[in-house]
Amino acid sequence: MSWYIEDKIKEILFKLVSIPSISETEGEVAIEGEIYDLLNQIPYFQQHSEYLNKHAIENDKFGRYVISALLRGRGDRTVIVFGHHDIVDFDGYGEYKDYALNPEELTKRLDPDILPEDARKDLLSGEWLFGRGINDMKYGQALGIALMEDLSSEAEMLSGNILFVSVPDEENNSVGMLAAVPFINDIGKKYALDFRAYIINEPDFISSDSGMHNFFVGCEGKVLPVFYCMGKETHSTEVYKGLNAGTMIAEIERQMNLNIRFTDYNEGHFTGPPTVLQIRDTKEHYNVSTCAYAYSYYTLYTVSKTPDEILRLLKDTAYKAFDQVLEQFKSSCADFEKLTGIRHDCPWTPKVFSYEEIYAYNLSDIGQSFDIHMKKYMKENRSKFKDDRLFTIDIIKEVVRLCPDKEPKIVIAYGPPYYPHRTNKGETEKEKHMLKVLDRVNEYSQAKYHKGWQLKKYFGIADLCYTGIDEYESVVKNLKPNMPILGNGYSIPFEEIKKLSLPVVNIGPVAKDAHKFTERIHINSSFEMIPDVFKFAVLELMK
Ligand SMILES: [Zn+2]
Repeated sequence: MSWYIEDKIKEILFKLVSIPSISETEGEVAIEGEIYDLLNQIPYFQQHSEYLNKHAIENDKFGRYVISALLRGRGDRTVIVFGHHDIVDFDGYGEYKDYALNPEELTKRLDPDILPEDARKDLLSGEWLFGRGINDMKYGQALGIALMEDLSSEAEMLSGNILFVSVPDEENNSVGMLAAVPFINDIGKKYALDFRAYIINEPDFISSDSGMHNFFVGCEGKVLPVFYCMGKETHSTEVYKGLNAGTMIAEIERQMNLNIRFTDYNEGHFTGPPTVLQIRDTKEHYNVSTCAYAYSYYTLYTVSKTPDEILRLLKDTAYKAFDQVLEQFKSSCADFEKLTGIRHDCPWTPKVFSYEEIYAYNLSDIGQSFDIHMKKYMKENRSKFKDDRLFTIDIIKEVVRLCPDKEPKIVIAYGPPYYPHRTNKGETEKEKHMLKVLDRVNEYSQAKYHKGWQLKKYFGIADLCYTGIDEYESVVKNLKPNMPILGNGYSIPFEEIKKLSLPVVNIGPVAKDAHKFTERIHINSSFEMIPDVFKFAVLELMK
């Protein structure tokens, strides 16, 4: 007989799914109350109330919490079972919206004929359960709570400890995970715990060709490079007297768009090339002046490139774009002269600064008053911007405005969010232990369920990214000073993350279509094999 009670996991799962805990809403606080209550009903936490905690997230506009529950066995080895309890919205359910949070009802009512073919087949098979958040990732949180309940009855027999952590905001800015890391460090210090590994149950989108389940042991990273162009404004009847920032940003976009120089590679895994998320000039209304300023920002996924390598590439790209714009300007001047006999010159040379460089330039030229002004400026203007990218642009704009050098230039910075990439390199003792454990889990699963697991080095962007920082030095040296908003309404506890760098593994339910109205989990495996394999993995990891 297995440890889990299928009905118990289902009961918790349905309770969690029923709460509309959409990212950045009060629903997150509601589900935090529910998760706390569910854990609080476990006799162990009634006897050891000090181990169950609601940690308030500082300065959070929704008043959200991180929930933690510590189960103490013998010794100090501790496995962190973590996950998120927020979901994306469910507007996409259309006429089924009222049932999106009621998996049994939704699965019963869905009309197979309106579904895409794969979802239709699954619905008709009766083997799948549909609902918002059911795989991403309330199943994981239900499993974690059920495991805590199961093991709590004989906690003193465990060879180590389990720390269960549930966070909000994963689907948004990872505010929950970023707040959780210092809390976890505090708990570790308070009880002298030796943290061994993180384990999470995000959905596993198994490809039907291999049929293999996946152990994800890392995640891609993401940076958001910003280009800010300062041109030279002129009247549009005197085009050769100025340099159009619109042209500059367009050429940067031409150089950046799908540029495979930015594609990253590691251990058989490639990331896609960059694409622009926003590109515009800063004019707010029509006039006959040319664009003086323009900006763009990109998403860039990483698996091995460090912030300094990326910065070098970005600068190189910016120089190329600048060269190209000036070449075109010069060739137009020559053609115009041939045609009219009127001569114009190009007085500019390419100038590219990183944010750190232009800040240092201003500081050395203007002095300390520049730094004092900027700090005050950021503080006073923070609340004017709902979007962190726009605030980033505004800070750069102010630095450029104060720059004694009034010639055209390009400034490169990083905007939020930042997600460090990481994976298990099998280097540290804990990493090696994790890989050995996963071998054993695979053997266990093969023998008992005839189901095999394969190691996958990278999951997509998720809270997993904050389970450690592999390139700490480069991040501190090159990313921090080039991200203007850091410490001004956006923060990443780099030191705390580095301190808690641990190997991570995702052991997830067989799932499809997260974030779509056809989100679903496979019933049999999710309530039979996965709970068993998950428990086996947790117990092995704490050895
Ligand atoms: Zn998720």
